[in-house]
Amino acid sequence: MKIETLIRPDLLDLKPYSSARDEYTGKEGVFLDANENPFENGVNRYPDPLQKELKEKISVLKKVNSSQIFLGNGSDECIDLLIRLFCIPGKDKIASISPSYGMYKVSAKINQVELTEILLNEDFSLNMDRLIDGAKNSKIIFICSPNNPTGNAFSKSDICTVLENTDTLVVIDEAYIDFSSEESMISELSNFPNLVVLQTFSKAYGLAGLRLGMMFGSEEVISWINKIKPPYNINQLTQNTALAKLTEVEKVNDQIKIILAERQRISGELQNIPSIDYVYPSDSNFILIKVKDSNKLYNYLVLNKIIARNRHGQPLCDNCIRITIGTVEENDVMLDKIKEFND
Ligand SMILES: *Cc1c(COP(=O)(O)O)cnc(C)c1O
Repeated sequence: MKIETLIRPDLLDLKPYSSARDEYTGKEGVFLDANENPFENGVNRYPDPLQKELKEKISVLKKVNSSQIFLGNGSDECIDLLIRLFCIPGKDKIASISPSYGMYKVSAKINQVELTEILLNEDFSLNMDRLIDGAKNSKIIFICSPNNPTGNAFSKSDICTVLENTDTLVVIDEAYIDFSSEESMISELSNFPNLVVLQTFSKAYGLAGLRLGMMFGSEEVISWINKIKPPYNINQLTQNTALAKLTEVEKVNDQIKIILAERQRISGELQNIPSIDYVYPSDSNFILIKVKDSNKLYNYLVLNKIIARNRHGQPLCDNCIRITIGTVEENDVMLDKIKEFND
């Protein structure tokens, strides 16, 4: 398949903005080309527009070529840029599974693109026929795995089946992949030119406040995204902090282990609480539970200064509450309070 046939035709002849840092990429010299303030303070120079040093580190960690990596101001910027590159406003459509992450819909709406929501099965598994059929007239299909808010991951073979049976771009949002027993789809990039994988520094890497998202795709898709991106979308402080974080991946892995152990402990404890009807299995850093009246439990928790996410009203999530795994101490407070709840 040719990616060019999916891209917005009016963008095919776009001449991207060429910044001073694009036109001269050397590091040594007297820099009088970008109208910067010459007095050194750590951020007086424009940052590397393509974040080469950071991408090289990510390339080693994720075992994917630097030319197949794009970095965004959060995954949310990646989602927006993908929709903008592929969809003609007022004409093209995208699809996503449902229930899922809310930003696909918001980003679609902002870009005047219609979103087809394709319902999962009752047990939150992919309904393959419905998915492949429902995505037929779409430019992009977003599949979040592990999925938010349901918590479950989809199997690699199911996702490959979708890829094999569709001509659209398939975006797998792996924000929670570090907590999952399923392997990342990054290893399938060489088999599918229409596959894009999103990951983020916001969850397992503990840098939600930084805003740094990763997009992995074919060299072709990534070079097109680079053409439409804001020139300096990743600031110098973000690049520095992420580089420092990547020197302590072991510490990140230790934290993931603690969160996974807590997930197992909390799941077990929640299952023994009579007021909870169901505890869904989780491949992520949160647990979805079903109760008799989620508004009542939610308000009770807020009164006790415990803030969870009420997902009642989302498809297939009647009376469901999503609880993020906190520290051991935080989880204990949460468990104690839910045990005292009378519905
Ligand atoms: C949290 C989350 C993200 C992260 O978005 P950022 O913009 O990188 O913080 C992406 N996708 C899903 C499904 C999420 O839940």
